[in-house]
Amino acid sequence: MSHTDHAASFPEPATRVPEDDDPVAACPYCDRPFQGEHARDLHVGEAHDPTPEERDRYEAALDVERDDLWLFHARAVIGLGVTYTATVILYMAVLGSGIV
Ligand SMILES: [Zn+2]
Repeated sequence: MSHTDHAASFPEPATRVPEDDDPVAACPYCDRPFQGEHARDLHVGEAHDPTPEERDRYEAALDVERDDLWLFHARAVIGLGVTYTATVILYMAVLGSGIV
């Protein structure tokens, strides 16, 4: 199963560009509009047969995507840790105060 087969299984996205709005980037193969070159580079690499230059851009965009995802996971883990610690401290404080 190639990249192209995988991308073909996605539903057709709703892409309507308002009359007075210029899309930042468009796919050179299927003219699909994108809000940024990052998304366009990812689309070209996944849905079409990219040239070596486009493949480089796709891989660079993929790296950025991975970094963003890592940062999101790191934030989620830190958030969970802080919530857990606060809950434990609050629980111990309530137990220690003799209210319950
Ligand atoms: Zn395209």
